[in-house]
Amino acid sequence: MLISGGQVQQAIQRVAQRVNADCRGGKFQRPVALITLNGALVFGGELFRQLEGDWEVGFVKVSSYAADMQSTGDVQVDVPPTVDVAGRDVIVVEDVVDSGKTVKSLLTLLDKVGARSVRIATLLFKPGAYKAGIPIDYVGLPICDEFVVGYGLDYDQAGRNLSAIYVLDE
Ligand code: 5GP
Ligand code: MG
Repeated sequence: MLISGGQVQQAIQRVAQRVNADCRGGKFQRPVALITLNGALVFGGELFRQLEGDWEVGFVKVSSYAADMQSTGDVQVDVPPTVDVAGRDVIVVEDVVDSGKTVKSLLTLLDKVGARSVRIATLLFKPGAYKAGIPIDYVGLPICDEFVVGYGLDYDQAGRNLSAIYVLDE
């Protein structure tokens, strides 16, 4: 086991506290938590429950990984944002930021549809693999550059319901 269920919960609490602190004082009107499917469903649900104030939830699905452990290259938009984010303040909720390709594409996409501001919250971050250079606003836990499963993250669609996070054995 890489990260216990308890450590995951603590990380989510820290992220929620920081988001709540940043959103106090009416700076953002009805911000949108845009959860990326399918991986961030579990983290996003728990984070959303801990957000204070008037939040809307939405989903977006992009894919950059196939069923294997290698990146396929291009990121493709499978489900466009389910909430109209034009003029809105958005927090993109990601399960893991690896090379940063997905985050970069999401930022381009949200810019195109006219989001007012975009921040990124991710449960896991792989600093050793990250190449996008865009600062990640909220990181739950930095991890090593290995393929992990659990707490929403899958291997070939399996393992998402695990409450802890494990490094996948090859
Ligand atoms: P990036 O575009 O940053 O390279 O990759 C981000 C996406 O790739 C994540 O949203 C996730 O879907 C997938 N991914 C990257 N690393 C892992 C990993 O360790 N485990 C799993 N299950 N998916 C990963
Ligand atoms: Mg993801």
